[in-house]
Amino acid sequence: MPRKLKTHRATLKERRESAGMRRHRMSEGRPNAGKRGYGGTWRKARRWKLRRNPICEKCLNGGQLVAASEVHHIVPLDEGGTNEFENLMSLCRKCHARMTKGGKRSG
Ligand SMILES: [Zn+2]
Repeated sequence: MPRKLKTHRATLKERRESAGMRRHRMSEGRPNAGKRGYGGTWRKARRWKLRRNPICEKCLNGGQLVAASEVHHIVPLDEGGTNEFENLMSLCRKCHARMTKGGKRSG
């Protein structure tokens, strides 16, 4: 009876090795699951916006230089807004709180 023990063993060993390598590779470059809206994209856009525009835009309009720490959606995502640069506003905490609190009220 012809047995292919040698070949079999070799394949097993090879398999084990390649499996280990594959596992290592997968843990390195894990593919991110696509998220919509407030997900990884938003985080990225936010960081990018703050880096490019680190000064509060509202305060800047009033002639003040205040470091921005938050990013505001000019058109909310719920209303069809995007995470694009043009739809984002760098704001300091005060201005952001004011904008999100006083929706219809002015002043
Ligand atoms: Zn401000």
